[in-house]
Order: sequence, then C-alpha cells, then structure tokens
Amino acid sequence: MKKVRRGAGVAVLVVMAVTVVAGVVVARTLSSSPPDPQLGADATTHEAALAPFDEDAAVARFAEALRYPTVSVPPPAERDTAAFLALHRHLDQSYPLVREHLTRERVGRPALSLLYTWEGTDPSRAPVVLMGHLDVVPVIPGTEDEWTHPPFSGTVADGAVWGRGAMDDKVSVLAVLQAVDLLLAMGHRPSRTIYLAFGHDEELGGADGASAIADLLESRGVRDFAMVLDEGPGVTEGLAPGIDVPVAMVGVAEKGYVSLELTVRGEGGHSSVPPSATAIGVLAEAISELEEHPFPANLDAGGLVMLEALAPHMAQRFRVALANRWLFDPLLERTLSAEPQTSALIRTTTAATMFTAGVKDNVLPIDASATVNFRILPGETVVSVIERVRRVIDDERVTVATANESGRDPSPFSDFRGPAFRALEASIRQVGPGPVLVAPVLLMGGTDATYYAARSPNVLRFLPVRMTDGDLVRVHGTDERLRVEDYLHSVRFFLQLVKNVDALP
Ligand SMILES: [Zn+2]
Repeated sequence: MKKVRRGAGVAVLVVMAVTVVAGVVVARTLSSSPPDPQLGADATTHEAALAPFDEDAAVARFAEALRYPTVSVPPPAERDTAAFLALHRHLDQSYPLVREHLTRERVGRPALSLLYTWEGTDPSRAPVVLMGHLDVVPVIPGTEDEWTHPPFSGTVADGAVWGRGAMDDKVSVLAVLQAVDLLLAMGHRPSRTIYLAFGHDEELGGADGASAIADLLESRGVRDFAMVLDEGPGVTEGLAPGIDVPVAMVGVAEKGYVSLELTVRGEGGHSSVPPSATAIGVLAEAISELEEHPFPANLDAGGLVMLEALAPHMAQRFRVALANRWLFDPLLERTLSAEPQTSALIRTTTAATMFTAGVKDNVLPIDASATVNFRILPGETVVSVIERVRRVIDDERVTVATANESGRDPSPFSDFRGPAFRALEASIRQVGPGPVLVAPVLLMGGTDATYYAARSPNVLRFLPVRMTDGDLVRVHGTDERLRVEDYLHSVRFFLQLVKNVDALP
C-alpha cells in the first residue's frame, strides 16, 4: 500500500509539474513579441532614393572599376601599386562633384587607402563613417579559364556585372560615391560630417589601411560616431522555417581569430628502428585530442541574436523553443551542434588547416608541425584559447605557439537596439523592394570595421545586395558578379541612408 500510495503521489507531482511547465511555455511563447506588421516598403522613402538617374552610365562606371587588378597578395610588397593609383584616378574622374566638394586624402602604409571628408553644416553633431575596401582577393591560379568572363574584364552581360571584386567589395565603394555624387547634384549638404573610408588591404587584415584611417581620425579627435557602416552579410531568402520574406542580416559583432602552430621535435634516424611514436604520430595524436574535445557550446555568447530577433516570425515549434530557453537549451544545443554552420554560432571552432612533416620514406622525421585555426566566440580570448589548447593536448612534447600573427580577440557587440541600428533598418525597409526583415547577426569572419569596434557602440556591417547560395561561393571564388539590379539598388540604399543618418540623435 505504501508503495502504491507513494507511486500515486509521484504521478500527481509529475502531472502538476507538466501542467506548470506547459503553462509557462504557453505564457512565454505568447508574451514573446508578436510578428511585426510593418514589413512593407516604408511610405517615407526619400524622394532622393526614388529620383531617376542615368543608370547605364552608373553601371559602366562600376564595371570599369572591376578592370583594375587591385589584388591583395602576401607579401604586401608584391601588390600592383599602379592598379590602385589607376583606380583612384577612375574614381576622381567618375564622380567630379565628390572631388569638388569633399576633401580627399590618401592614407595608409603605403598611402593607397582613401579618406573622403564631407563636412557637415553643424560641427557639433556626431559624425558618420561609411566604409568599403578597394582591394580584392586573387583569382586562384589555374581557375582563370573557368570564369564565364575574364575576372578583370568588368563585362556587363546577362543582367550582371562580372569580375573579381563585384560583390567584395567594390560595390560598396562605387555605390556610396555614386550616391554622394547624386546627392551633391541635388544640392544636399549633410548637417553632420560624413567620412567615406576605403581601405586598401582588407583582404590582408586591414592593418595598414583601415587601421591607419581609424588612427588618423582618432588623432584628430574624431570619435563618438553616430554610425560606422562597413561591408557585411547581404539579404538572403529561405533563412529559417516559417520565414517567407527576405532577411537582411546586419553584422553587430565579429568572432575573434587565431592560428596556432603545433610543433613536435623528433629524434630522426633510420626508419628500420623506430620509436613507438614518431614526431608525426605524436602530433597527429595532439590534433585528434583537439578534434575530440571541441570547445564547449555557449548559447548566451550572442550567437543566437539572429534567431532570437527572427523568432516571432518563425514556425511555431522554433518560436516555442526560443521563447523557453530555460527548458529547451539542451535540445537547441544538440540541434545547433549537428551542422557546421550553426555549430560555429555557439562555440569557438577548431580547424586543423596545415600539416608538414617528413622528407623521405625511410627517414624518421625530425620535425612535425601543424597549423590549427580557431574562430573565437565572444566571451573567450586569444589567451584563453591558447590555455585550453595546451590543457587539452596535455603533452610536453608538443609546443604550442601563435603562427604568423598574434591573433585577434572577438569584437564587442554593437548596440542593436539603438538609433543607429534603427536608422539602418529603416533605410533597408524603405528601399525594399517589398517586405524585408532585418536581423542582427554575429559574423564568423572579420571586416575592417573591427578597427572601430572598440571606439563606437554603433559599428554595423551590411551589404545591400541579395545573396543566394550560389552567390556566396562566387565571393572569393569563380564567377564573382553582381546583378545590375542589385548595383542600382545599392545606390538607392545609400541615397536613403545618407538622408536618414542626418536625423540620428
Ligand atoms: Zn570584403
């Protein structure tokens, strides 16, 4: 009897618990913000963004910019300086009103980056920086013939402009300059100062370009920016179940980066009398340890900001899970960890990328070395990553040191609820076309914006360009190109944005 009664008691408790849990789940799901009804293009789209302009001429200027091979290759000394200077000249000739009304300086080491200053009428107002970069990644040798149109031809065909740099990132540079030129023709003068900052070495890390520009502004006492906007993710479709409108993703933080070199020193000698493990074996074991012990997931480090922002629009089962994190975190962690794309949102990633050892089949290796690349989740640092790697490998035969550079800590999160984000969001919606959702995201890669991240809470990263699956592969790959429609849209976006930032507090 006692047993039965106790059993009944447990059953009652379980039923009560389930009822309470269900009640809380429903309550939390209902109280999570309802879908935003105002998804359509905004009625306040500025006339400047709607005004007709010579589209063919604008596209031709953009196409011409793709013909200068402003390639960033290591070592930097091997870059084609003449190509950068020729691109500068092309920009000067293309946008005469910009040249006339804005101050243009060459900045950097060497001075191939460009800083334009568009003086505002009220010097007391916080300034804005619109960024982009002039350099492009190389075309992988041997793949030139796979391009539909030669990579530096700037061919306009099949509704697109083809060439290296079309999406990354000459679109930002040319569209901003085109928009400013058009606004000048309309007699616009901003109340706050707007800087146009175009680096020349973003693809090498930006240390001699964007960094030098940020330092120059700092040395002039220019800080407390109302908005800093750099390249970032674009507009994508089919992002999550239940969401049937395009989503504009705005980068509000960047993961950190460090590459570590693991080295094992062996004895050498003849392979006929080997030790139980050669330098190769010891090193391979160390890498296996790292892969078998991935960094722990952290769902609260900011990787879920996008999902949380989109939750009200998502299919109900996701809405329930995201509104009740206290209950569903273990399930969320398992689901997100299953795919590389989503796993990278919630943990520091580990990628062994290089392995060097051995010279001959019958000679024991003296040295074995490997490079492992880590993308660091906010909340961790280069130092904490190195400490954990040493702890996990736990083998004094393996030396761990930073490779090439010292690495970069994750950026702080920008304010994605404040006026700068809202102004960007409004600009995106106002030029549409059609309904679009805007969501903050954590970026897996780095941008030049990192040099402003510690100096302003309003650093945002966005490209007003549609990105489908195929487009992502083209960036840094073969057949990079931008739809003509997307280029013209980018110009309108910047026309709208320049108008909107004037209204920022
Ligand atoms: Zn880029």
